[in-house]
Amino acid sequence: MKVLVTEYLRINLDTEKWECRRCGHEHGNARENYKHGLLVYDRDPREIHKPLLDTQLYERTYSPDPKWCRILEYYCASCGTMVEAEYLPPGHPPLHDIEFDIDALKLQWKDRKEVTEPSIAPDLALEKVKHGRALHAEMHHGHQH
Ligand SMILES: [Zn+2]
Repeated sequence: MKVLVTEYLRINLDTEKWECRRCGHEHGNARENYKHGLLVYDRDPREIHKPLLDTQLYERTYSPDPKWCRILEYYCASCGTMVEAEYLPPGHPPLHDIEFDIDALKLQWKDRKEVTEPSIAPDLALEKVKHGRALHAEMHHGHQH
C-alpha cells in the first residue's frame, strides 16, 4: 500500500519507506525526515531574489542577506525532481515538516483502497489559453466569413 503525501512524495507502508512519486526511488525510512534521503542545494538567496537597488550605493537592496538566510532546495537523487524548498538561517538543520505516526497510518489505510493517481482537476491555465484563442478567433475572423 502506497499513500500519497505531497505532489512528489508518498509512503510505502509495506516497506516503511519514503518514495518519489515521479520515479519510485526510495528516499529512506518513513519514520524519519524524508529530507535525509534527498540531495540538497544550499543556495545564496541573492540568486533567487536579486537586489532591486544598486549594491554599490546601498547596504540594503531588498535582497535577503546570505549571512542570515539560505534557501535549501531538495531534489530526488534519482530523477532530479525538486521535492521541496525552504528558507532557513545558515547552518540550521533541515526542517522536519512532515512526520507521521506510521503505525496509525497503517491502521487508517488497512481497509481503504489504494489511491494510485491524484484526483484530476481541470487544467485552468490551459483552459484560459483555449478561451483566449477562441475569443481572438471570434474577434478577428468571426465576422469575415
Ligand atoms: Zn525521483
